[in-house]
Order: sequence, then C-alpha cells, then structure tokens
Amino acid sequence: MVREQMPSISLGTVYRNLNILVDSDEIRKFEPPGQVKARYDAKREEHAHLVCRECNTVYDLNLPEVSSIDEEVEKITGFHTEQRDIVLNGVCRSCRDQLRSQRTAL
Ligand SMILES: [Zn+2]
Ligand SMILES: [Zn+2]
Repeated sequence: MVREQMPSISLGTVYRNLNILVDSDEIRKFEPPGQVKARYDAKREEHAHLVCRECNTVYDLNLPEVSSIDEEVEKITGFHTEQRDIVLNGVCRSCRDQLRSQRTAL
C-alpha cells in the first residue's frame, strides 16, 4: 500500500519503520499462529483476533470482558497479567456459508 505513494520504497524500510512503531507502542505486532506473515495492528485498545483457517482473514473483535480473566488467573496461580493476546482459530461466516453450499452441491 505504501508503494502506491512511494514506489521506490523498499520492503525493508517499511518493516523497519513498522517495528519502530511497535517499539514505541504506536501499533501492535501480531503473529497469527500457523501463519508465516506477521500483521501490524493500528488498533491499540485491547481486542481479540479471530483467524479464519480457510481464507486466512484476521478479524478484530472487541472483548471488554476478557480483562476479568486476569483476576481469576491471579487468584488461581498468582500470575499477574500485563498483556493478553487472544486468538481464536476457526472458520469465518462467509467461508462457512461457502463450505455449506459446496457440501449441498455434492
Ligand atoms: Zn474465512
Ligand atoms: Zn487487531
């Protein structure tokens, strides 16, 4: 996307700058399990990621209740949570619809 505006920019420069933004907490780096490519997330507030195994789309989902897990975890284990990376793996709605229609076509 950056190349549309700066055609000569190298990918290395893009990633270097992304990592600077990650280090300064401007954006978040997110590595979906089982996927090779890291993703960079401009959404900084706490949210979960839904990863579709069919189309590899990563969906953002606001889950305000997850912070209540922290207390429970600390009570059980004494572990103090500072950051959460919640990833739910599965199949998204449009892929499920597609799979379903393929199945009925068979
Ligand atoms: Zn999908
Ligand atoms: Zn996200």
